[in-house]
Amino acid sequence: MNEFYTRITSCGVTAKATNQANKRVKLLNIYTLIWIHLTIIFTITDLAQGILFERIFFGHFITALTFFNLCVIIYLNYIYKFSWARGLFVITAFIVFNSSSLIVSPGIYTEYYFFLLPGLGLSLFDQKWITVSILISSIVFFFLPYHIWNLYPIDYTERLDYPSMTCLFIALYFLFNYFKKLNQQNEQLLELERDRVISDKIVLEKQEKKLRELNDFKSHFFVNLSHEIRTPLTLIQGYVSQITKKTSQKEVEEKLAVVKEQTNQMQSIINNIMDLSKMDAKQFSISTQKVEVHLFLEKIYTNFKQLFDKKEISFSLKPIAKEIFIEIDSDLFQKAITNLLSNALKFTPKGGNVILHSVITKNHFQIDIIDSGIGIPVTELGNIFKRFYQVKNDITKSKGSGIGLAFTKNIIEAHDFKIIVSSEENKGAKFSIQIPNSLCDFDDEKSKTLLATKSIDSANPEDAIKVFDSSTNIPKILVVEDHEQMRKYIKSVLSDYEVCEAENGKEALEKMKVQSYDLILTDYMMPVMDGEVFVKKVKQLKDKTPILVLTARTDNHGKLNMLRMGIDGYLQKPFLEEELLLQIKNGLKLYANTKVFEKNLQQEEKASLEAYAEKFNSKINDFITNNLVSNTLNVEEIAMHLNMSRSTLNRKTKAVLGQSTKDLIMEARLQKARTLMLENPHATKKEISAKVGISNTSYLFQKLEERFGVSI
Ligand code: ADP
Repeated sequence: MNEFYTRITSCGVTAKATNQANKRVKLLNIYTLIWIHLTIIFTITDLAQGILFERIFFGHFITALTFFNLCVIIYLNYIYKFSWARGLFVITAFIVFNSSSLIVSPGIYTEYYFFLLPGLGLSLFDQKWITVSILISSIVFFFLPYHIWNLYPIDYTERLDYPSMTCLFIALYFLFNYFKKLNQQNEQLLELERDRVISDKIVLEKQEKKLRELNDFKSHFFVNLSHEIRTPLTLIQGYVSQITKKTSQKEVEEKLAVVKEQTNQMQSIINNIMDLSKMDAKQFSISTQKVEVHLFLEKIYTNFKQLFDKKEISFSLKPIAKEIFIEIDSDLFQKAITNLLSNALKFTPKGGNVILHSVITKNHFQIDIIDSGIGIPVTELGNIFKRFYQVKNDITKSKGSGIGLAFTKNIIEAHDFKIIVSSEENKGAKFSIQIPNSLCDFDDEKSKTLLATKSIDSANPEDAIKVFDSSTNIPKILVVEDHEQMRKYIKSVLSDYEVCEAENGKEALEKMKVQSYDLILTDYMMPVMDGEVFVKKVKQLKDKTPILVLTARTDNHGKLNMLRMGIDGYLQKPFLEEELLLQIKNGLKLYANTKVFEKNLQQEEKASLEAYAEKFNSKINDFITNNLVSNTLNVEEIAMHLNMSRSTLNRKTKAVLGQSTKDLIMEARLQKARTLMLENPHATKKEISAKVGISNTSYLFQKLEERFGVSI
């Protein structure tokens, strides 16, 4: 019913119209609806009193006409003809009130309805001449029964006070008018207020968006930065602790070289940040000296050659046939070119080309760094020199901080040189440093013979997939890590195992197609395919190889994500060797039995066993998870639930899941405890113990340490 009335009163209301207009349409609908109800009620009461059929025909005609007109008014509103509808309303009112007071019910004061009309007119019309006409007509029609038709006794007519009745009409008219104006003013104020609220809301939303972006950017920046710093830190810690053990002089030297390289790396990251903030504070000055461009570029070229070589990218130097001297701060200028070359190295895939090239044009001498890498979308070209800005792609997801180019640009501009970029997505990028000819010293006499282009033949990529001898019993571990030194370090720690390497998740998946591994150790942040996607894919393949994740992330969210995907453990960078070895040992132990069991099976047996194992696993795991809080949960209880004897259950879990039932329960309790600790770092040890059904707190934490190492 409510719905029906709302629909009727909203007939003709449209979002396109102003609030004022919609309000009028609604008012007219409400008046009409009330009138329809009155007509029905009057007809029913007449019927009840038995006087309905005594009425003259004209009376019935007027009732029918009223009813019909009122429906037409609603219909006109419905088809958005409000002006017609209100006109019809006023005409109907005059016809009905008049015929009622003069013909249908003469002498029973129905002319008093006219008091309502000026008010209704004011609420439906704005034009003064219309509302005043309605007022005058109402007054005139009100007096008709008294004067012209003489429907009332003479003494009553004589007593009727014409001036005061007219004043009453006028007073009512002004009163309505006053309220109408007041209402309009309030509405205008409300509208203004609403506009203000809306504009405030827009401003707030914009600010919120900016804050959110800033926040995202901040966390992305810090996550990347901590990754950049934690990786060398882990290497330094690892190698330093290896040096303290007994090692040969040669090994010590090798390790120290890596430590030095990594410290330099960290120092350069921090220096870049410091230099950038100095530039901000305008505490930045350059001290220049004359430098011969060739020699300068050749030195940088030699430094980078090896790095490009390693990544199998052809790197060449195309120098100019002249000796050119420029005034530069060689330290800073070298940093600028190094940044550009590091980017070329980072954003060019294996097999690509990078050229360090110089040319003389009419106005300037130009140094170009051209690569055939992933390129930069045209829309992003204007942003890449902004501080901390990174184009979103697979590589920047885990690498870089967006400082390099801002820093480079500042250096170049401090020399009064210019840096420009041109690029096409997936085709490569070209960064050009333009040095005005007026700032160059061309020594034509010492002209050199054109240096032959130095180009490094792309090394014959050795087959990365090492297929190991299957007869060996040494566990095979697949290390997935993009940082080469880190891979090397992990390999040195895992000297007791057979280690296979992959640079990212994608490469690892390829390797897993050819070879099976006893354990996977993967980094979390990697280009091309990161650790999260990689683990998801491995799990989708139903591969049961235990997975350990190395992460620089300190936020619980990232770790929880991983744990929920069913990895067997994670290590936070920087980690200790002992911790890594312990986690690997436990991971391998957990799956050893399953592997042995599976090895002895035929292919079909394996498939049907897998299906059975999955069912069995989910049954037993569900039961354990649901009853974990109880400290009485034991093998008997599970055996009873699965309807088998204790010894059958033990045999089955060992064969199918590679662990005894007792171990399974303990593993579930330990995993749950670890997840709970991450979810709620403030939970007390006692609370954690209670939630995983172990009453002896110190026993639980000792077990956690044994299982996951020092990070607990
Ligand atoms: P980052 O630390 O991310 O490398 P930079 O300031 O050096 O920061 O570079 C800013 C962004 O410009 C990078 O994140 C990358 O998206 C883009 N970029 C810079 N150089 C190249 C290049 N040679 N090829 C493709 N993209 C590049």
